[in-house]
Amino acid sequence: MATSKNNFWDDGMRLISYCPLCQSEFHPMEAQLLGERGERHLVHVRCVHCHNAILALVLVTKVGVSSVGLVTDLTYDDVLKFRASRRISVDDVLSVHEELEIGSLLTLLTHSG
Ligand SMILES: [Zn+2]
Repeated sequence: MATSKNNFWDDGMRLISYCPLCQSEFHPMEAQLLGERGERHLVHVRCVHCHNAILALVLVTKVGVSSVGLVTDLTYDDVLKFRASRRISVDDVLSVHEELEIGSLLTLLTHSG
């Protein structure tokens, strides 16, 4: 009997085998596993034809396989970076709003670097 990991790569990846934007076929080696928890697997798949990418959550259970995909411009490394980042809080949003109102954020962004 196949293991859960084999089911994921064999059955789960079959669900996301085509690029939703250009309909090209994904090669399994273009898929990179970002993480897995139990039956859930988060995968980044980049299309070598149109260079777009999808983030797919693949669920492999005893009763079947399902997936939800999201077109993204994030690279595999971007996803790893932002997953480890602190969440944006309401205070962060209010701080940016205040900085925009007094114009200091624009000054900071245009003169940095
Ligand atoms: Zn494509």
